[in-house]
Amino acid sequence: MGKMRTQVGIVGAGPAGLFLAHLLHLTGIEAVIVEAKSRRYVEERIRAGVLEQGVRDLLVETGIGERMKLEGLLHHGINLRFGGEKRRIDFSDLADGQAVTVYSQHEVVKDLVAARIGAGGTIIFEAEDVRADGFEGQHPVIRFTAGGERHELFCDYIAGCDGSHGICRSSIPEGALTSFERVYPFAWLGILARAAPASEELIYAQHERGFALLSMRSPTISRLYVQVDPHEDLANWPDDRIWEELQIRLGGGTGWQLTEGPVLQKGITAMRSFVTEPMQYGRLFLAGDAAHIVPPTGAKGMNLAIADVRVLARALQSFYETGRTDRLEAYSATCLRRIWKVQRFSWWMTSMLHHFPEHTPFDHRRQLAELDYVTSSRVGGATLAENYVGLPFDDP
Ligand SMILES: Cc1cc2nc3c(=O)[nH]c(=O)nc-3n(C[C@H](O)[C@H](O)[C@H](O)COP(=O)(O)OP(=O)(O)OC[C@H]3O[C@@H](n4cnc5c(N)ncnc54)[C@H](O)[C@@H]3O)c2cc1C
Repeated sequence: MGKMRTQVGIVGAGPAGLFLAHLLHLTGIEAVIVEAKSRRYVEERIRAGVLEQGVRDLLVETGIGERMKLEGLLHHGINLRFGGEKRRIDFSDLADGQAVTVYSQHEVVKDLVAARIGAGGTIIFEAEDVRADGFEGQHPVIRFTAGGERHELFCDYIAGCDGSHGICRSSIPEGALTSFERVYPFAWLGILARAAPASEELIYAQHERGFALLSMRSPTISRLYVQVDPHEDLANWPDDRIWEELQIRLGGGTGWQLTEGPVLQKGITAMRSFVTEPMQYGRLFLAGDAAHIVPPTGAKGMNLAIADVRVLARALQSFYETGRTDRLEAYSATCLRRIWKVQRFSWWMTSMLHHFPEHTPFDHRRQLAELDYVTSSRVGGATLAENYVGLPFDDP
């Protein structure tokens, strides 16, 4: 059995785990990441793609924003389409000149993996049967199998960055955590297509047939979604049907047409809001999707994961520099203040834009009035813009 030792043992090489290791490295703290999948798998996993202003700035400040600055698309607004009209929310005007950057999550992951490996850091890919133990006491250990051999990674703290289906959250004794959840009565059918985006900026469409979103990953790759039933079978959606539905919901009746192209990937994503409290137990800290899930309507999942580990890295830095644990003790409460505001925003965007099975004509009219309000009132637009570009990091 191989025995290893590090300061912080991290489970999961998604944005949360990788960025935490990067931040710790910058402050001279050692970390080892244990990841269940292969390097190739994590570098090609298509997920989120919109970075808040503060997250962009953080990537640049910490030296891993070079490719993002070159290849990322800076967006100064988004469009809302409803009632046969398209209206723009202008971040330059409504959010003090801030912007979002369209840059794929898997590109962020590639940059972070390269930075880790370039700095001589350790990421153990394809680890099997990963277990987090000993965190109730003074001797946390991550046990796993790699290369056919069982290993033990001893550490001072464990960071559970292993996403919503990871093992860290479920290693915490039952009864120590409280979960808050809302499951939505719909899902998103998403495609990645080799087609130039038909709009420079994202279009969020509220339509009586259901929500649709035009997004993009680059000037030649479109990312498009339609709201579907949560139990929908992908087999019922040949490419032609998806394009037809997208054309109706995003452009119907206006003469404006989406650019179509070969579908590179398609899948159905369930929609839920979930928070677990607290996000720590003994010497185990949960971060990112391991602790919370947001519906993708507000484009917040990856941003929130990065915000959590920023707080955790600062708390660990304070501990290693001064021996003080107050910031570590406050970790959960500090993160949850932001998380609940982001949950509220993601729920609000979802509620405003989707068709719910229980909706009456009253609800439909109310949604249209809300969309009219946020696109015609400065205050209404500013609240959307401020949240979309990202609330400031306001922890001490
Ligand atoms: C299909 C899908 C589509 C999404 N689309 C969007 C979107 O369009 N917009 C948006 O804002 N957000 C989206 N999200 C959410 C966003 O991608 C996540 O919020 C983000 O990935 C969170 O990062 P994370 O590091 O916390 O978790 P993850 O990225 O999930 O990383 C967790 C890592 O832990 C690893 N792991 C899991 N279990 C173990 C284990 N037992 N041992 C070791 N390692 C383990 C996983 O392989 C993974 O690498 C999407 C999520 C999914 C699942």
